[in-house]
Amino acid sequence: MTVSTLRPAWRDLPAVETVLAQASAELAEFGRPLVTALIRERLAAARAALSADPATPAPTPAHLLAEVRAQAHAITAPSLRPVINASGVILHTNLGRAPLAAEALAAVQAVGQSYNTLEFDLSAGGRGSRTVHAEALLTRLTGAEAALVVNNAASALLLALSALAKGRPALIGRSQLIEIGGGFRVPEVMQQSGVKLVEVGATNRTRLADYRAALTDRTALVVRAHASNFQIIGFAEETPLAELCTLGVPVLDDVGSGALLDTAAFGLAHEPTVQESVQAGAALTIFSGDKLLGGPQAGVVVGRAALLAKLKKHPLARAIRADKTVLAALAATLTLYLTDRALTHIPIWQMISATPVTVQARAQAWQAALGVGQVVPTESAIGGGSLPGQTLPTWALAVPARHPNRVAARLRALPTPIIARVNQDAVLFDPRTVLPREEADLLAGLRAVFAS
Ligand SMILES: *Cc1c(COP(=O)(O)O)cnc(C)c1O
Repeated sequence: MTVSTLRPAWRDLPAVETVLAQASAELAEFGRPLVTALIRERLAAARAALSADPATPAPTPAHLLAEVRAQAHAITAPSLRPVINASGVILHTNLGRAPLAAEALAAVQAVGQSYNTLEFDLSAGGRGSRTVHAEALLTRLTGAEAALVVNNAASALLLALSALAKGRPALIGRSQLIEIGGGFRVPEVMQQSGVKLVEVGATNRTRLADYRAALTDRTALVVRAHASNFQIIGFAEETPLAELCTLGVPVLDDVGSGALLDTAAFGLAHEPTVQESVQAGAALTIFSGDKLLGGPQAGVVVGRAALLAKLKKHPLARAIRADKTVLAALAATLTLYLTDRALTHIPIWQMISATPVTVQARAQAWQAALGVGQVVPTESAIGGGSLPGQTLPTWALAVPARHPNRVAARLRALPTPIIARVNQDAVLFDPRTVLPREEADLLAGLRAVFAS
């Protein structure tokens, strides 16, 4: 197409260079390649609009720049960003499970921004092992002989089964053929790892005699998976772990949440602890780092040294190994347990141990500061595949709303999004899961939404 055949509006479109010249200072933070690409895209769109309808007015450079700026912001803003969890669900799976302790974050920063001793032995001046950083802490805390940290509990289970029972039978009680969520099903993981799954007992009752009847001299493992996210009530019976450990076959115990403290001390049901599993004689105990342990996403295996040696040598271990920042955060979190500071320094334990009176006082302070809603008694949940159906009595600020879902959507659109609990006719804010340093942002956000 020659210049003379251009319709007038096409000629009015600014050149890329013209827009770029105006953009340079203003959009410098986004870098020239991204800004140039976005200007080209906007101009192409304008040309397409003009050929569809020649009456379309050509956009001015200022108009194009405004579009490019908005788009550059949208593209470069992180989609993984902090939110304020006012829902009262402590281990909210969709909100990243456990927030990290300040000590864990400091360790991530220190190790992440420098070279470090990830696989370096300072005394020998040569190659070291990344498995040492959390191992001594884990063995001291749990009473186990050895430990290994991998990506998450799901991969820990896959590794343990592959390394110890590939091609051989492993027994599991029928009540433990569980799905954790996100498509993680224990029977499928067992099949994936090449283990011959042998189901034992009935859904609601499994006795030691059922296991004994299924044992052969080829049986590699007895697997036990904690029912983390459901309960069987009524006519139900599970074989205690200590009895399973008398069968003469190594028992692999997936306890799930990784509690090192007794949840019963806070009015909750008792979640099996890692120490109890080791004490009862489990050969290997598997748990998550970011559930009731309150640390980073990780899968921890503790147990007998001879079995852990096999896991550490297996090729899968390399594929699912933990990163330096995870090991730093985990070790710092474990140190808080070892130095008796877990309840006061690990966010999820601060939340679990907060008394209703202190939560109520925070809700009342919010109510007084905002002048909206009322403080009502309600329940906080543990969540995250721990303690199903268990709640803690709490107090929340309840703000009545005719369209609570619309209010919740506006809260999510705030610069620091607020995730609230939505009732039939109110939006609730539970202080239990709001970190003290988030309060100023929370109040500013609530003021902005409820002032209008
Ligand atoms: C949560 C859970 C898992 C999975 O843990 P991830 O660390 O999320 O992989 C496995 N087993 C049980 C019993 C669980 O509760």
